[in-house]
Amino acid sequence: MMMAVSFPGTKERDQWLREQEEARRRDHRRIGKEQELFFFNDVSPGSCFFLPKGAHIYNTLTDFIKSEYRRRGFSEVITPTLYSTSLWERSGHWEHYSENMFTVACKPHTFALKPMNCPAHCVMYEQRVRSWRELPLRWADFGALHRNEHSGALGGLTRVRRFCQDDAHIFCTPEQVQSEEITACLEFVRSVYRVFGFTFHCLLSTRPTPCLGEPALWDSAEQQLDRSLQKFGERWELNSGDGAFYGPKIDILIRDAIGRRHQCATIQLDFQLPIRFNLQYVGVDGAAHRPVMVHRAVLGSLERMIAILAENFSGKWPLWLSPAQVMVLPVGTDIERYGRDVVHRLKEAGFMADIDDDHGATLNRKIRSAQLAQYNFIFVVGEREQSSGTVNVRTRGGKQLGQRSLEDAMTSLTQLRDSRSNQDEF
Ligand SMILES: [Zn+2]
Repeated sequence: MMMAVSFPGTKERDQWLREQEEARRRDHRRIGKEQELFFFNDVSPGSCFFLPKGAHIYNTLTDFIKSEYRRRGFSEVITPTLYSTSLWERSGHWEHYSENMFTVACKPHTFALKPMNCPAHCVMYEQRVRSWRELPLRWADFGALHRNEHSGALGGLTRVRRFCQDDAHIFCTPEQVQSEEITACLEFVRSVYRVFGFTFHCLLSTRPTPCLGEPALWDSAEQQLDRSLQKFGERWELNSGDGAFYGPKIDILIRDAIGRRHQCATIQLDFQLPIRFNLQYVGVDGAAHRPVMVHRAVLGSLERMIAILAENFSGKWPLWLSPAQVMVLPVGTDIERYGRDVVHRLKEAGFMADIDDDHGATLNRKIRSAQLAQYNFIFVVGEREQSSGTVNVRTRGGKQLGQRSLEDAMTSLTQLRDSRSNQDEF
């Protein structure tokens, strides 16, 4: 489609052209291709093939969230992908969402691929009697989800048919929602976004019309979220009437390096699913009570977050996320063995390291191409480095950090990686 764009003056036009160029330069589909991170193929439209470097980013993000789960009292669960339609009828998805679901006929039954994890977690919850003593239950699930997006809407990682979320459901008492769970969810989001350098603000979405459930329950839930947001102290706005039909929610909008906004994290209260599944817990009083369910995600879809991060960093990944951390360049053929030893040591320590032993290229050209491939660091090794067990370090930006013992260099790299620092030298 051709689009006519008119501008009040040349200054505005130049600005627009600059922004277009910047967006093109940062396009995650371009970065994905250049850095060999991922691709798509018509044999599975909308489902991404992650190559080793893309999978490294994917797994590093997942590991980051898993380490946060351990600190924050979440436990991971693993649930099926394929479910009988009887589950979807029970959860309400069959009635409201079936056109977005992939079904599989398996006579005499029909199954569907899960578009979300919540019903599976309800099945887990009701698997035995629950006591107030075990609440809150915080269950996290990285299971693969499928949603049937129209093929015309597919494009890169921002809209896919197959994806994973850093999804978790918290089953808790109404008192726990008020006292700590929402605040803890907000803190979780803040600490992760700080690492990426995102600024953000929150939206409190309140009851839509029509909605399900008692008005008094909505009132109290909205007040609870309001109080949690005030206590949290970050900027937030009221987004009146934009909640889900089953409960109010907090959406978190991030702002990336070029000022674009994305909604990734969400914290949603749900009163309806516990009713549909008749979930209960035995309270202190010995009677049966209804738990509240909180749906929450920080990164949201891993696929989409990788697109956002690729564009945010413009393909210059910080060391901890980087799929190309160190390029080792041996100078001279008799140094190659030492070069390979260095790569081996780095790989053993969990780093993504490669060697360029192409004899046809000059050192300067190799340095240049390693920089273009966005290797965070380049280790040049020659005779002097070999005999002293050192490496000559350069940064991606061209800064020469000089000769370091391999030991020291690795200690510094480990520190940068493990602290998830954005620093690009040591
Ligand atoms: Zn959910």
